[in-house]
Amino acid sequence: MPVLSYKYRLYPTMAQIAGFEAMLGAFCDLYNAALQQRIEAYRRAGKALRYVDQAGELKAVRAADERLAGYSFSAEQQVLRRLDKAFVAFFGRVKKGKAGFPRFRAKSMFDSAEFRVGDGLTIRKSKRLSVVGIPGEVKVKWHRDLPTFAKVGAAVLSRAAGKWFVCFQITMPDEEVQPRDGASVGLDLGLSSLIATSDGETVAAPQWTKGAAKRQRRLQRALARARRGSKRRLKAKRRLARHSAATANRRRDFLHKLSRSLVDRYAVIALEDLSVDRLTRSMLAKAVHNAAWGQLRSFLDYKAANAGVRVEAVDPRGTSQTCPECGAVVAKTLSDRTHRCACGCVMDRDVAAAKVILQRAGHGTGPGHGLRTPSQRVAA
Ligand SMILES: [Zn+2]
Repeated sequence: MPVLSYKYRLYPTMAQIAGFEAMLGAFCDLYNAALQQRIEAYRRAGKALRYVDQAGELKAVRAADERLAGYSFSAEQQVLRRLDKAFVAFFGRVKKGKAGFPRFRAKSMFDSAEFRVGDGLTIRKSKRLSVVGIPGEVKVKWHRDLPTFAKVGAAVLSRAAGKWFVCFQITMPDEEVQPRDGASVGLDLGLSSLIATSDGETVAAPQWTKGAAKRQRRLQRALARARRGSKRRLKAKRRLARHSAATANRRRDFLHKLSRSLVDRYAVIALEDLSVDRLTRSMLAKAVHNAAWGQLRSFLDYKAANAGVRVEAVDPRGTSQTCPECGAVVAKTLSDRTHRCACGCVMDRDVAAAKVILQRAGHGTGPGHGLRTPSQRVAA
């Protein structure tokens, strides 16, 4: 069953922010105390405590500590689970010979808590959140709806660069989706555009990406210039973190909309197999797009699966050098934006590549029809 994340920005009041911070502080103390207990149990008795041992004591701990008693029980269980995971990872590393013992956590770095939805954290009729131990109801920016048919399991409340978020973990129903009938499309990870389709559509990388990249470089330089341990460095670091988070959010949003529009319009989507990336890596522009491409691919995959749309990956080699009309090899340099073949076929190079990709998936018309060679994947 696929589990998806839906993340939303929260707009807590000052009192709610103070409440969140006090809660994370209490959870951080619990984490550190549980770590301390594990260390001592091992020193004194050579005994390795497990999650069940510590969770079994949680009730008594809450009875003795009214601060912890005021917050969600299951969220506190999750804190103990998190420590347990840190130990499991630690023992894994020990086996590989490179151990790093789980460390005590600083409150400033303890940035999240996990809740069971409907238990420690509830979505109210007002569309606001209530969280056990936090005053009032917290405002949420629902920039997209939670899927109505899905089961909402956990919710992670988090703090990043001074902002607050909630991320719902959604389990999609596992029913068989009937494959849909309809049009097929080939997608090329473009050189001048973000993607081009075999129908001749090109989608440019959004305008803001250029400005965002520029600002990212400027903030990185400022951070590199600031003296270690200085106040300016801390500020520069925060600014950079805030900017990176904002850019990632905008990109995710854009790619969600793009993948939704493709899945709504087509029944088969053919694209390049990313595991064959020798060629892509040699192209800088493509490398820059790659982060976005990988994300778009995963959005397409799950949206397609839910809508009965097929996604087919084909061997990407030579797609940009092949004529979709006659199959001839038409060599192009990176600066050639147009495909111009002796057979008379003239079109945008990325659109031409998208048509070849569609043909390789066994769809569309042209000389490459049926020329699908999954076995070549290994050879690449
Ligand atoms: Zn041609």
